[in-house]
Amino acid sequence: MNGSPSAEPPLEGEGLRIKQPPKVAAGIPAVLHAMQHAVGKMGPLRAAHTLIALNQTGGFDCPGCAWPDPEHRATAEFCENGAKAVAEEATNKRILPEFFAQHSLAELSRESDHWLGQLGRLTHPMVLLEGSDHYEPISWDGAFSLLADELNRLASPDEAIFYTSGRTSNEAAFLYQLFVRQFGTNNLPDCSNMCHESSGAALGEVLGVGKGTVSLEDFDHADAIFILGQNPGTNHPRMLSTLEAAARRGARIVSINPLEEVALVRFRHPQHPLDLLGSGTPIATLHLPVRINGDVAAMQGIMKAMLDEEERRPGHVFDHEFLREHTSGLDEFLAHLRATSWPAITAASGLTQEEMERAASIAVASRRIIACWAMGLTQHENAVANIQQVTNFLLLGGHIGRPGAGVCPVRGHSNVQGDCTMGIFEKMPDSFLDKLGEEFHFSPPRQHGYDTVNAIRAMHEGRAEVFLGMGGNFLSATPDTQYTAEALRRCRLTAHVSTKLNRSHLITGRQALILPCLGRTEIDRQAGGPQFVTVEDSMSMVHASQGNLAPASEHLRSECAIVAGVARATLGTRSTVDWEALIAGYGRIRDAISRVVDGCENYNTRLGAPGGFRLPNAARERRFLTSTGKARFTVHPMPPFALAPGQLLMMTIRSHDQFNTTIYGLDDRYRGIHNGRRVIFLNTEDLQQLGIEAGQLVDITSHFRGEQRTARQFTAVPYKIPRRCAATYFPEANVLVPISAVAEKSNTPASKSVVISLALSKPSATA
Ligand code: SF4
Repeated sequence: MNGSPSAEPPLEGEGLRIKQPPKVAAGIPAVLHAMQHAVGKMGPLRAAHTLIALNQTGGFDCPGCAWPDPEHRATAEFCENGAKAVAEEATNKRILPEFFAQHSLAELSRESDHWLGQLGRLTHPMVLLEGSDHYEPISWDGAFSLLADELNRLASPDEAIFYTSGRTSNEAAFLYQLFVRQFGTNNLPDCSNMCHESSGAALGEVLGVGKGTVSLEDFDHADAIFILGQNPGTNHPRMLSTLEAAARRGARIVSINPLEEVALVRFRHPQHPLDLLGSGTPIATLHLPVRINGDVAAMQGIMKAMLDEEERRPGHVFDHEFLREHTSGLDEFLAHLRATSWPAITAASGLTQEEMERAASIAVASRRIIACWAMGLTQHENAVANIQQVTNFLLLGGHIGRPGAGVCPVRGHSNVQGDCTMGIFEKMPDSFLDKLGEEFHFSPPRQHGYDTVNAIRAMHEGRAEVFLGMGGNFLSATPDTQYTAEALRRCRLTAHVSTKLNRSHLITGRQALILPCLGRTEIDRQAGGPQFVTVEDSMSMVHASQGNLAPASEHLRSECAIVAGVARATLGTRSTVDWEALIAGYGRIRDAISRVVDGCENYNTRLGAPGGFRLPNAARERRFLTSTGKARFTVHPMPPFALAPGQLLMMTIRSHDQFNTTIYGLDDRYRGIHNGRRVIFLNTEDLQQLGIEAGQLVDITSHFRGEQRTARQFTAVPYKIPRRCAATYFPEANVLVPISAVAEKSNTPASKSVVISLALSKPSATA
């Protein structure tokens, strides 16, 4: 065996090019890049046939992010990164069993994640037998019985981990959680544990619902839109069309982010010919370059300025009627604001008082405010505090449950919200479990299961021995790469339901399975004929998705059929579910969803409405199902920006050629990076102070409670980023993120605030 497979992507050779970032986003380059990927991977005819159905009624939902579809869809209702996501899945390339016979796992692991992803679609179920380093073909029945044997030999169902990635459809997610609970555990970690779990935890406490309260139409009425810790230009690109329309009608947009992302500076709409010739539409009215994890301070500064104005002109800033009727905890919060000094706020936020006052004046002048956020708020130890500053800010002006106003955590994965709604959550409420038990005549387990971080710990400590992943790239999406790799290697069996090869297939338990599934773009034919599935977007709209391509291989099965196959083989006669009947026609799964999942009554019927249907949201109607029965103000201290000399605070980010752990290409053209990913963005003055020159290779070491982790050979790139702050891409930098560095209450990995130090890479190591 030629050495064990590498858990980390390989170091990069020569070829990195650094250019000036562009001054405007999208436009013709976005069209060209989208076509280059689409035609390059699918060919012109297949590309046209596929993209014409993307995000269309009767078509399929984009496997990219969870930005909603407008009521009136454009002919090309997708963005550059949506086209890339589809091209990745609908590629003409195939990985046949012969490929695995020629390439060992160790050999494959020496290739980059981008290279692995370009190999194409998986076509056959594959098994890695104990002691072997090559996958070999296996029949579906063989795969199901191997998994069943390993699951049934466990001393307890809690020794198994059932992970879900946000691409899984509602129907597959509902069946999966049903199987897992029939098996006897709630170990249902999912990718939202790494992203918006903090939003759910924070909003649940203060608004009584863990989801956003706005609709897409609300953006047509907002006077101001605050965008915190989010880069829509890369991660939710169609949001730019919505922001452009808002900016053009005079709405003020405030971006609060350590990085001034080009897409929030200027945007050329690729589908507005006149736009393509002009200099583009200015988007953000104001950019606040907050330091990493300075959001609590920044928001408290803005609210302190609003309070000053309210005290100058009582009743002109705060919505007193709303505050009286619908909130609790206001006085304690205002006392905290009054007691917090401006010097403390400016020190912790990295902003000037004047900058925060400018943002406050925009808020004061606005009757309807929407606040959007993403990972920049959710991946910190104080993430829940970050988000609850945003709700405090909106509550002061009554901006919840008002048209044109509300909270909008923007989900990064197409159905991550739907999966949780369907029961993919390690601590579902008794009301759900009661209904599930009633519907399927069994007693679901009540003991809470493992989320992602706790699942990794359980595998590492030998408390879990079988891992099944429904989609995703568990190893590369999770923190502390070497620790997670050890955890997976300690399993008896690791199995993945996947469309493409990734690094999680190379870092395995003693045995491993690859279970290749249909993609969103493909026709899903079952006994009852072609089936459609459903998904839920960031704004709680549930709608149908139906592929239009022939499957990439005759051996592929749908996610639902794979779950049913595993369930039948594992549970046998002890199951109370007619799995065959459910997958023969997914309408039966939706009928069961109607009876089990709150808000999903008459699911099949309501899907017939144009665009689908919106799930209920009590906070949107100003019914706050919280401990006080009211929307709650909360008081949180500003986290200190405490770094030792020479240390920096690092955040991991995505490049423009990336979707989560899927690497579409090696460029990040919106930041001037070409043909490379191992870069670290640094403030020019910090570079000088650290004695590092632009372009030099550095090793990054993270520091956490006396522990150190090192990632080697990142190119130092001078960039417009606040002092003592740094940024790198994941998954390359995930090895630096400690498994124990997590957000309070949500247990989300704190990938956006990692304490690091730098050292020049040793010459020998750089040869
Ligand atoms: S904005 Fe998101 S959902 Fe829409 S096409 Fe782009 S990647 Fe897909």
